[in-house]
Amino acid sequence: MKKLGLILMVTTIVCLSCNPNADKEGSLSKEPENFEFVVDRFADIKIMRYRVDNWDQLSLNQKKLVYYLSEAACCGRDIIFDQNCKYNLYVRHYLDEIVLNFNGDTTTLDWKNFMVYTKRFWFSNGMHHHYSNDKFYPEVSKEYFGMLLDSAVFKGDKDSKEIKETRKEILNIIFNPQIAPKRIAQDTKQDLVKNSAVNFYDGVSQQEVEKYYADLKKNDSQANPDRPISYGLNTKVVKENGKVKEIPYSMNGEYAPAIKEIVGWLQKAVTVAENNAQKNHLNKLIEFYQTGDLKTWDDYNVLWVQDVNSHVDYVNGFIEVYTDPMGMKATWESVVNYKDLESSKRTKLISENAQWFENNSPIDNMFKKKQVKGVEAKAIIVAHLGGECYPATPIGINLPNANWIRKEYGSKSVTMENIMYAYSQAAMKDGVLQEFYFSDVEIKRAEKYGYETDKLQVDLHECLGHGSGQMLAGVDDGMLKNYHSTIEEARADLFSLYYIADPKMVELKLLPDNEAYKACYYKYILNGLMLQLNRVDEGKNITQAHMQNRALIANWCLAHDTGGTFEVDIRGDKTFIRIKDYAKLRQLFATLLTEIQKIKSTGDYAAAKLLVENYAIKPDPTLHKEVKSRYAVLDVAPYGGFINPEFVVDGSGDKISNIKVVYPKSYTQQMLQYDQKYGFLSK
Ligand code: ZN
Repeated sequence: MKKLGLILMVTTIVCLSCNPNADKEGSLSKEPENFEFVVDRFADIKIMRYRVDNWDQLSLNQKKLVYYLSEAACCGRDIIFDQNCKYNLYVRHYLDEIVLNFNGDTTTLDWKNFMVYTKRFWFSNGMHHHYSNDKFYPEVSKEYFGMLLDSAVFKGDKDSKEIKETRKEILNIIFNPQIAPKRIAQDTKQDLVKNSAVNFYDGVSQQEVEKYYADLKKNDSQANPDRPISYGLNTKVVKENGKVKEIPYSMNGEYAPAIKEIVGWLQKAVTVAENNAQKNHLNKLIEFYQTGDLKTWDDYNVLWVQDVNSHVDYVNGFIEVYTDPMGMKATWESVVNYKDLESSKRTKLISENAQWFENNSPIDNMFKKKQVKGVEAKAIIVAHLGGECYPATPIGINLPNANWIRKEYGSKSVTMENIMYAYSQAAMKDGVLQEFYFSDVEIKRAEKYGYETDKLQVDLHECLGHGSGQMLAGVDDGMLKNYHSTIEEARADLFSLYYIADPKMVELKLLPDNEAYKACYYKYILNGLMLQLNRVDEGKNITQAHMQNRALIANWCLAHDTGGTFEVDIRGDKTFIRIKDYAKLRQLFATLLTEIQKIKSTGDYAAAKLLVENYAIKPDPTLHKEVKSRYAVLDVAPYGGFINPEFVVDGSGDKISNIKVVYPKSYTQQMLQYDQKYGFLSK
């Protein structure tokens, strides 16, 4: 792949609130064949764009709704930076100032490296890698960085005592490996709270946090054991006068300036809601932001999950707890979207048959759900990504997270159709298939069926996999502790892998023939055994839950092949894998699914530990090295993220006559624009 230029001529940034590239691009639907998906490349990252298809089929009110919700999403941007680490907004301010004001030589390698650091910082919403959670560093000297600060930011004041102190402090935060080395600590032998850079806790130890929540739960007179609130989901824990307490994220608490802005746009959204159900959950969300009350949060989710008729939909709030070492605090995120009607026929068919899939799965009968509750599955067109979902986004979402709401009211499951399309377009010509696939047979199958089976696998994972199975009485997710996420993802993947090969898929016309699933099987195994190792630095472990789950499944299957399933072929110094018998592989998936469902349903920590530690964490060093060097030749970015489209409004206030979509190309420009327009916590 061609490396795109990293040089940014600072002088070309004239006006941040208008986008010179955008106008030239025009509305995409007119010329989709000219659409450029990959627009930037730096470090281990590629920046892409996604198309907002069928935009002109929305009514004016629906367009306004998408626009207001997108503005609400932008307003929470600073929250995620601050949640990730308390230094992030501070450092970001200086990075922006340098990019905007540096008038020196921007053709040097030092400047290019400075820009790579800055873009990585924007991309990760802070100074830690978004996947590995390790702090990363600029590949320039402290002296050069100091020079940039002096010349672009401090200027005439650079010799004052106060400025010298500030300068020292900034450089120390950025360069000192002792300061905030890891976003999330994983070593359970040490204090997880104190050793994590995430900003959910201040001045408290793991023990104090554990005691605080144990007491809170014990003394909660309002508590309903069947419908527990998500304790600690939206708060920061601090110590005041020796006492541990929580500050809620709300209009009157932590992050108030940003939350007020979010609420302002949500209130506008209420005025153009499509129906009463939508109006009601928007109002409930506003109430939650006003009070920070977690009972209101549950009430909101109950309303939101039951609204299945609105065309436009959104995620907005403190949702996922992946970043909290204690698994309680949620990061802020938003996804604004509307239904892809054509593709939703596919997901509808799957959810209509949910009970059939549950009844026929290979797991033990006692762990099956007797009655699968409303799985609302749809394919969506993403119109805006925000917070934790920007610029690196998931490709499917299944919410809400509260188990009792899922059980009583079901869940909404989405496949992000246009995001997956952008990924598949970007991957088409990167040479990975030619380098790693066993033969032309596998390559041709991938070209013919790859995109279809990718989407179907996400549908099955999100809409059936996570929702399947049941726990024995008295068992909860917390019992698997640090292995819970990996086991849960493996369970959902195995469910989808088992069923994608089922004749039912062809019968329901979800796949064209009985060959198609093989494209998915091959990709999955190759990815789990080899390809994804490109995302991990040599000598390091696999740490991310989804990656651990893929490694677990692929390595376990290879280890349990009793002969005839796989062939490993060494050609020179290159390893190739062939699947000789796809039916046998399906049997292996079924066996592992049975085992993993049992672990989840019974909360068997020891068995979870054994599986994860044996198969999911440590890459084979020789194979790891090989994968890295084969990828190095291809120069493919292991991670991707997206620039958001922008909405151009004709008219204002009550007199909006139309809203158009434009597709900016410059990641740097979007970042500077966001920082300037939505920097509510950094001003
Ligand atoms: Zn999942």
